[in-house]
Amino acid sequence: MKSIRRTLIITYSAISVAIIATLAVVFHFSMEGIFEEYTKKQQADRIENFREQVLGLYDGETGEFDMAGMEIVGNAALQNGLILHLETAGGEMSWDVSAHKRQECQRMLEHAHQNMHGRYPNFTGGYRDEIYDLTVDGKLVGYLTVGYYGPYALDDNELHMLDRINQRLALIGGASLAIAIGLGVIMSRGITAPISSAIQIAGKIAEGEYGVQSRVRSKNAETNSLIQAINEMSLKLERDERQKKQITSDVAHELCTPLTNLQGNLEAMLDGIWEPDRERLVSCHEEIVRLTFIVRQMQELYSLENKRECLEYEEIHFGDLCKSLSLDFAGKLQEKQMRLVCRTGEEDTLWGDEYRIRQCMINLISNAMHYSREGSDICVSFEQDERQAVIRVEDHGIGIPGEELPHLFERFYRVDKSRNKKTGGMGIGLSITKAIVERHGGKIEVESEIGKGTVFTMRFPRGLHAKG
Ligand code: ADP
Repeated sequence: MKSIRRTLIITYSAISVAIIATLAVVFHFSMEGIFEEYTKKQQADRIENFREQVLGLYDGETGEFDMAGMEIVGNAALQNGLILHLETAGGEMSWDVSAHKRQECQRMLEHAHQNMHGRYPNFTGGYRDEIYDLTVDGKLVGYLTVGYYGPYALDDNELHMLDRINQRLALIGGASLAIAIGLGVIMSRGITAPISSAIQIAGKIAEGEYGVQSRVRSKNAETNSLIQAINEMSLKLERDERQKKQITSDVAHELCTPLTNLQGNLEAMLDGIWEPDRERLVSCHEEIVRLTFIVRQMQELYSLENKRECLEYEEIHFGDLCKSLSLDFAGKLQEKQMRLVCRTGEEDTLWGDEYRIRQCMINLISNAMHYSREGSDICVSFEQDERQAVIRVEDHGIGIPGEELPHLFERFYRVDKSRNKKTGGMGIGLSITKAIVERHGGKIEVESEIGKGTVFTMRFPRGLHAKG
């Protein structure tokens, strides 16, 4: 298979060869035509010139031609490829150059023949002559026969000139071809370099080297988009890979401690070190419940993130949802002397999967309760405009440090591990909340201030909100 580069160079060269060859052929033939025309005109001028010279030799008084002069004119004409033969009108006198210079005439004709046949092997030419009347003051005084090699002949100088022109043409053609190939190489490099780089990066990605980036930039929009897409794919694969490793290590870490505890407790009971009393069995059971909860949450997160589960959209009356949540949390709220304040109207409705939206609310309210001082309020509000429906859960708790906020929605992320061990959090609730909001096409944001409290804002697009 040919490379793009080779194909481009061959194409460029073929196009330029075709253009140059066409130009050369057209130019060559028009030059030859121009030369032919030029030579014929020169010949006609020369004949006319010698005819006038011969006429000048006529003496009107004696009615004779100057034969000595005629010899000079005849020799000069021979040098110019013309064989002159003069005859007076009455036929009393005549002069013929071939009678004096037969061999030279022969040589001249042979030379002209060689010149023409050497250049044009199919040239059909030979000796020709034409007779011209010589008239002085309207009176015919003689006939001038002009012989030459015809229909036309190129002399040595003219042939030399044509050769030079053809050489220059070949030179120009060669130079143009070299330039075309050079341009082809440069331009093809401009196109193929980014593609080769993209191929190289794709190859590395295929070998599992994620995150590699191509720095090559192209002047070509499509090639740039290709490189950009490959670079983005590479980064995404790197992120996914990192996340995968992180999840594996997080899951292992999360499950390892409770499992080790459980194993230790059970072994102690089996070995008779501990009495398998109710209290210890309850503790083991709690640990198993906790483990099952982690695994279920992981499964849930997986199905939400990978869209394994269909959402069941319906109209949710937000006020009713808030009332129901208040009832659910009533016991715990009372325990902590807290209030759940719902700022919502009768008409506030939201389109979504009620079970999932409820789950989000439970996660956010539970967290708000966990990380708030006793006696403080938790505020839930609902707002909507033509673009979105916005739900806020606000607490007046301990707050979250600013540097922790970007990681808050990552799995198993806890702001303060020791603090959360006490409160029992696993750092997975917010990941699930985020996955649910995103499955609804929405976004979740967090604002927090240490010591003052935290606000979680869920935005659901109105298009979806109004769906159905
Ligand atoms: P967890 O089960 O640990 O609560 P989450 O994913 O729900 O897991 O929360 C992740 C971490 O974010 C929590 O461990 C906690 O440190 C912090 N966090 C969440 N909500 C709040 C809040 N309202 N106030 C303070 N910190 C919070």
